Amino acid sequence: MALKKKGRYWYGTGPQDVQAEMVRFSQLNGYPSTRFSASVCSCGNATFKLESDEDAGAARRSCAACGSVHLMGDSAQYADEAEFERHDCACSEQVFQLLSGVALYDGTNDVRWYYIGCLCVACQLVGVFADWKCEAGNADVFLAAT
Ligand SMILES: [Zn+2]
Ligand SMILES: [Zn+2]
Repeated sequence: MALKKKGRYWYGTGPQDVQAEMVRFSQLNGYPSTRFSASVCSCGNATFKLESDEDAGAARRSCAACGSVHLMGDSAQYADEAEFERHDCACSEQVFQLLSGVALYDGTNDVRWYYIGCLCVACQLVGVFADWKCEAGNADVFLAAT
């Protein structure tokens, strides 16, 4: 594993390190993430600014290349009531590679909890920046929309 801790933060080198951190984080949360999907814009770029509102259960990403804005997973259902806040890295940059992960209800393919992991493009910090209880149904449909 390539994760390294510096002070309070973890640093990695790629999406697999975000996944490792998400597994650790989600196990501590009691709902282990078992399925994952990396965000890619329709333009092919994979770096984004991220905004979320955990209370409303919504997140949106803005492509760092083309500016296209996308509501992640089932967030479109909750975006009206959301007060989005932008995520800044500890290094103050705002562009990340994003990995979505979900925990499932036992014996089903139904989403139970949603995690959004980030890898900072500038400093390689990795972390789960947002997570919430999410009953979005079919995990394939949900992850395809992240
Ligand atoms: Zn784009
Ligand atoms: Zn950073």
